[in-house]
Formats: sequence, structure tokens, C-alpha cells
Amino acid sequence: MATISATGAALVWFRRDLRLADNPALHAAIQSDRPLVLVFIDQRDHDLGASPGPAADWWLHGSLEGLARDIDARGGQLTLLRGDPASLVPELARKHHIAEAFWNRSGEPAIDHRDHAIAARLQEDNILTQIVAGTTLIDPTALLTGAGTPYKVFGAFWRTALQRLAPGPALPAPQHLRLATDLPAGDQLADWQLRPAKPDWAAGFHAEWKPGEAGAADRLEHFLDHGLNGYAKGRDRPDQPGTSKLSPHLGFGEISPRQVWHSVQARLATGADIQASERFLAEIGWREFAYYLLHHFNHLRTANFNARFDQFAWRNDASGFAAWTRGQTGIPLVDAGMRQLWETGWMHNRVRMVCASFLVKHLRCDWREGMAWFERTLVDADRAVNAASWQWVAGSGADAAPYFRIFNPVRQGERFDSDGDYVRQWVPELAGLPPRWIHAPWQMPEAARQQSGFTPGESYPLPVRELARGRDEALAAYRSLKDTPDIA
Ligand code: FAD
Repeated sequence: MATISATGAALVWFRRDLRLADNPALHAAIQSDRPLVLVFIDQRDHDLGASPGPAADWWLHGSLEGLARDIDARGGQLTLLRGDPASLVPELARKHHIAEAFWNRSGEPAIDHRDHAIAARLQEDNILTQIVAGTTLIDPTALLTGAGTPYKVFGAFWRTALQRLAPGPALPAPQHLRLATDLPAGDQLADWQLRPAKPDWAAGFHAEWKPGEAGAADRLEHFLDHGLNGYAKGRDRPDQPGTSKLSPHLGFGEISPRQVWHSVQARLATGADIQASERFLAEIGWREFAYYLLHHFNHLRTANFNARFDQFAWRNDASGFAAWTRGQTGIPLVDAGMRQLWETGWMHNRVRMVCASFLVKHLRCDWREGMAWFERTLVDADRAVNAASWQWVAGSGADAAPYFRIFNPVRQGERFDSDGDYVRQWVPELAGLPPRWIHAPWQMPEAARQQSGFTPGESYPLPVRELARGRDEALAAYRSLKDTPDIA
């Protein structure tokens, strides 16, 4: 049997794990005591693992910039490559005297499958590969029901997970990176043109976000200091800064769920609110559940989890969809959310649910269209979480909101944006409206119209779909499914 070279270098393939601290692949490579070749491969022309869209690309640029700087500061160098990893990685390994390769498992079945094939190719050249867990807290193969089947209900999944979860301590960032002498020639980040120039539609992103590991750590600390104790209630208020905004940082792996987990445990030990902390960790649990579902049901992104929905009568409402994407539906909370998304690359979770529900229920557009739009526009676009969430809202997913429960966007606005401040911020046409009417301006009586100088349908559109009618038709379409067997 051939043996592994004692002198070669260790390849670390960075993916959506753009951090130095608590990075198991990097840690294992350093433990090998070999000089390092550190690469990131942009695989946009190769469907698997491609960056989802322009907003996520904006983030990726910042994240790579930060990682490269942090690596430089420790004596290393990040090499940027573009192409198909299936051929690039073995070629690189052969040319640059790689003896061992290390990367963190993606958690997406098709990518993991491709990666195992790459590891097999490397093995043929006597290169040993270690693929380690770094994306999620839970190994999806290790958590099954008593019957040996995957969980389909979040409550049971998370209860069992909590009983068994014992994450090891987070790994420290290395102080020094010993670089190999024979490095591949890489690209310049600027040449990848991940950020827009003309027009620069991302001006609002710069104001909102600081991509990179340091930004992630700051965001977490800020949330633990100012948001955690009020999270149980604050998480539902889009008009208040009640959530962590960690999603793009977690999505690009600038912080690991294990680091978040231990930071919350440390706060619990020093008196943080138990209910709020558990609630927050349960949201990390929903992220785990999404990856778990994608692992066990790998059609999650393309097909209804619940095949009964295959018969659902989606409407092909191109103009309704276009109005939704532009934040011009005439439904204030929906438009505020869609504009927040466009301007900052992020939307509050409560509003994501309302916008998604309006699209799949009132407009009856296929959830896959909404998912694709979110993937183009979200900085936190995550192939597992986005798919699971859209299916959840559509009613076709695992442990989904029942289809017949249809969010009323006016009631949701009145409840969670009671003064209308969130709508006022993102839909300035409505800024002069009193809280009483801001969520349903088309219902304003004449006196209120005159007082505020607002005429529905002039500066702001009338609803693209009458809410009661959209709801009734959605329910009728759903009822017609009822006789179809549920085979999920
Ligand atoms: P916090 O409330 O502070 O939660 C902390 C972390 O828990 C988040 O950063 C996220 O990683 C995780 N989390 C929170 N809520 C959920 C949830 N409902 N499901 C799974 N994980 C959750 N989240 C994404 O990261 N990427 C997506 O592409 C995405 N698409 C979505 C699409 C729809 C239709 C809906 C309804 C939700 C989607 N979410 C997605 C989930 C959720 O809206 C965001 O994770 C959350 O709004 C991010 O804000 P935050 O970091 O302040 O969350």
C-alpha cells in the first residue's frame, strides 16, 4: 500500500467557514504540523455550492477581505481560485506537494457527495483527506427517532437534541500560520467583481453590515449585552432592534453555532434570562433542523416535502410577483419588508413570514419563485434554511404552518408594528399616516384622507389583491387538495 508523504503540505479548503477561530478543518491542518496552503474556491459557474446571488456576493467580498487580512496578520496567505473544485482540488494537490487535505463538511447532501468524490480522487494520489464537522452543532446521521427514522417535527427533534448535545469547547484562533513555500498563483479579489459598481445598489448594505469574523464577534457581543434578555418578546418586533442579526455571519461561517452556543451558556451562568436564552437557542435549533431536513430529504429545495402539494393550483401571477419583488403590492407591511430586503439585504423574520405568506397564499405564487428571489436578494441567503422556511410558510414543509392558517398582513402590522414606525421607515409615502390607518391605507375614511392629504392609489398603490378574496381563493385551492393522500 502506498504511503502518505512525510514532507508535503496541508491544504485547507475554506468554504462557508470563513473564520480562524473554532474552525475544525484549519485546526486539524495545524495539528498535522505541515506547512499550509490555504485556499478559497469560487465555484460560481459550477452549480454546486455556488454563491446564491448578488447580495450574498456583496457579503462574500467583505468576508474574504477580512479573512485574508486575518490570515496575513498571522504570517499566512489566502489564495483565491475560481473554477470547478472537482478538477481544481486534485490538480492543485498534485502540483503543490499536498500530502493532506482538510475541509469542513458543507451539510448539503449534493455538495458532500461531490466532496467525497474529490477525497477519493485525492486518495488515488496518496493524499489523505479529513472532512470534519464545522457547519452545524448536530450530526444529522446521529439523531433519529426510536424507529430509526429522521425527525419531521421540530419540537421532538430539538428536545432530543438538547438531551444529547454536548458541544466540545470552541477552538481558539491560531496565533501563527506556517505557510508552505510552493503556493498556487491566485486571483485578486477585486477582479472577481463581487460588489456592484455602477449602479452601486448596495449603498444601504455598507451602512448596516460589517462582514467578517470581527464583525460577527461584535454583533454577538452587542446582542448578548443588549438584546438577549429581551429576546422572547423583542424578536417579534420589526420596529425594534430585538434580534441578533447574526444570520449572514452564521451563513458564511464567520462565527460557528458552537461559539454562539457557548457564549449564551456563559451568559446563562451569570444570570441571563433563562426563557429568553432558551428561545434564542431554539432559533439556532431551527437552523440545525433546516440542515437536518436537507440532509435527510435532499429534494427539499426543489420538491414539496409534502407531496400532497404537488397537486396545488398555483396561479401564474407575473404582475403580482413583480409588484411583490418591488415592494409595490399596496400592502404596507409586505412592501416595507420587501424594501428593507432590497436596501439592506436582510428582512426581519416576522416580516419574512408575512411577505412569504402573502406571496404563496394571497397571490398563490409557487414558493420556489419566492425562494429564488430571496436567494438573489438576501445577504444571509442559505440554501438549507431558505428552502425549509419557504416550505414551512407554504404549508408544504416539515412541521409546517398549516396551509389554512393565513397571515393577515394588516393584523400582523397592527400587532407587531403597532405605531407603524417600521412601515414609516421603509415606505416613506405613508410616513404622514396615523397608526390607525398606516397598515390599511385603502380603508381610510374621507375625513382622515383630507387631514393627512393622502389619496389611496396616487402616491402609493392600491392592494394588488383584495385580501379577503385572496384568502378565500387560497383556502378553496387548499381544500381541493384534501382528498389527495399525504405521502410525506
Ligand atoms: P435571530 O432571531 O437573532 O436568530 C439567531 C439565529 O438563529 C439566526 O441568525 C439564524 O441563524 C437562526 N434562525 C433564526 N430564525 C430562524 C428560522 N426561522 N429558521 C432557521 N433558522 C433561524 N434565515 C437564513 O439565515 N437564511 C435564509 O435564507 C432564510 N430565509 C428565510 C425565508 C423565509 C421565508 C423565512 C420565513 C425565514 C427565513 N430565514 C432565513 C430565517 C430567519 O428569518 C432568519 O434566520 C432571521 O430573520 C435572521 O435574523 P437574526 O440573525 O436577527 O435572527
